[in-house]
Amino acid sequence: MKPVPKNGVLDIEIYVPGKSRAPDGIKLYKLSSNETPLGPPPAALEAASRTLFDLASYPDGQANDLKAAIAEVHGLNTANILCGNGSDELLGLLCQCYLAPGDEAIHTEHGFLVYEIQIKAAGATPVVAPETDRTADVDAILARVTEKTKLVFLANPNNPTGTYLPFDEIRRLQAGLPGNVILVLDAAYAEYVRRNDYGAGIELVSSAENVVMTRTFSKIYGLAGLRIGWLFGPEAIVQAIDRVRGPFNLNAAAIAAGAAAIRDRAFVEEAASFNAEWLEWTTREIEALGLTVTPSVCNFILIHFPDEPGKGAAEADAYLTARGYILRRVAGYGFPNGLRMSIGSEEANRGVVAALAEFLKSPSP
Ligand SMILES: *Cc1c(COP(=O)(O)O)cnc(C)c1O
Repeated sequence: MKPVPKNGVLDIEIYVPGKSRAPDGIKLYKLSSNETPLGPPPAALEAASRTLFDLASYPDGQANDLKAAIAEVHGLNTANILCGNGSDELLGLLCQCYLAPGDEAIHTEHGFLVYEIQIKAAGATPVVAPETDRTADVDAILARVTEKTKLVFLANPNNPTGTYLPFDEIRRLQAGLPGNVILVLDAAYAEYVRRNDYGAGIELVSSAENVVMTRTFSKIYGLAGLRIGWLFGPEAIVQAIDRVRGPFNLNAAAIAAGAAAIRDRAFVEEAASFNAEWLEWTTREIEALGLTVTPSVCNFILIHFPDEPGKGAAEADAYLTARGYILRRVAGYGFPNGLRMSIGSEEANRGVVAALAEFLKSPSP
């Protein structure tokens, strides 16, 4: 006799985070986890550091200051907001609350890997909807809905492809789902998107009973290390998850830093402008080298390498890593010959482009 985890747990492939080491003595440019090169707003750092003087106290279990700041900035009601230890925690809680063994949850072909992990961890069955041109396909998702379906996960825009669905497609998706199926709109990169036809989902959540939107402070706010995410949803869903979450799931520094960061709208605007400029530049320069880049609205790009010996993603990754540029292998996302590059500082972006140019020119083995 020995302890055995419940069904599904051992089917999970362990999530491998982006690498963060360069060879000894070489300057590191970490472009593997879609972190911002700009860091957090200074007010967030100050707010977090003040909490260090009272570490003996539990944090506010309701994260009220953070909810109030989010509600104020986005014009929402705090009763519809739930904060999490990163949005990853909220994705897991949705699965814990709404999935049981035998249930199904849909995610897209190149969707964020955390969905599959959390669906399996809840003992349920992940169902994959194929994408078209590396973009989610509403008809393919709707065609996979059965009586067993309880959740549909859609990252909009998606990681690692960087593509998005316009808001009228999201509406069409919601309209096609049965009322008992929750549509989870993961808008981790919403702040970066500059498209008139994009919507993160706030209007849809407000007008439907079966849609939630998740957001994060890990990307544009530069607070990935503190783990802060939030969910906006109908009160019934928020209240269900509120029962299951850890009573102090956000630490005191996270609550304080998040509240300060989200109020700094000028910071967000500048960070988005910086990204837009370097996203365009980096995409253009890498395409000029003869590589294919999936058009992205995020703070990263998916680069596709040729099927020539010695010129593939694995070799490019080794070449870049040796020079301190750490990108992300995306074989686990269905792109064995791709690398995902986060948009970094000017120095990092220029450095990657120069190194890729050398790599492509160097003689193949
Ligand atoms: C980075 C990312 C998140 C954010 O996760 P946190 O747990 O909030 O750090 C969520 N969804 C997607 C698609 C992401 O790429």
